[in-house]
Amino acid sequence: MVNLTIDSKKIEAEAGRTILEVARDNGIAIPTLCYNASLGPLGSCRLCVVEVTQGKKTRVEASCGYPIAEGMVVETKSERVMNVRRLVLRLLLARCPESEQLREMAAGMGVSAEPRFTPDKDHSKCILCRMCVETCEKVVGVCAIGISGKGAKKATSAPFMKEPSTCIGCGACAYVCPTGHIEMESTGDTRTIWGRTFRMKSCKVCGRYFAPEDQLAYISSKTGVSEDDLATCISCR
Ligand code: SF4
Repeated sequence: MVNLTIDSKKIEAEAGRTILEVARDNGIAIPTLCYNASLGPLGSCRLCVVEVTQGKKTRVEASCGYPIAEGMVVETKSERVMNVRRLVLRLLLARCPESEQLREMAAGMGVSAEPRFTPDKDHSKCILCRMCVETCEKVVGVCAIGISGKGAKKATSAPFMKEPSTCIGCGACAYVCPTGHIEMESTGDTRTIWGRTFRMKSCKVCGRYFAPEDQLAYISSKTGVSEDDLATCISCR
């Protein structure tokens, strides 16, 4: 076990855990846009920065990937931390001025929603956090999308900026996207995402459309459960 202090609170926690995990377990909120327990730390958004003092050194670090250590002192809301977070948020807002989620977060942190830096005009809401990419690869196991391009032209897309041919339309990437960038529309017997339209399967009991046929075929191929056995929605199982 490790003894540390977070925001003047003495805490004993298991070695190997991160500052973010331990803080949250102890009711200390740290904002993030790219953290999900099932994906592990990505360190992309940098909103989770905290001040870490170890020995005579104090540094600002991303708490999502920083392991706790004996005697460590952490400040999650110091003036220095809040200044860094506001700067990060202003930069994210300049990249994605139309993201409702970012504007709400800015309001909560006293940051004007009007970008201080020159805003991008490509109407993207993508902050390049990689959550969608990691979810597709590590949780869904499909690898349909990635980050392409360089510098200011970096973007989340399918290989060669085409429609993702291996996508199964599960929608997990849209679900984890923190800024509302990935648009998914489900209307009756179809679902559209990443420019592709998928046919939805109707439940053989209640008739409700509940999942893309491609997704059920993928699950069937991975698990060996027949597509017929998968053709029942959660409510009717
Ligand atoms: S909808 Fe397509 S791109 Fe998104 S997680 Fe599912 S398979 Fe991957």
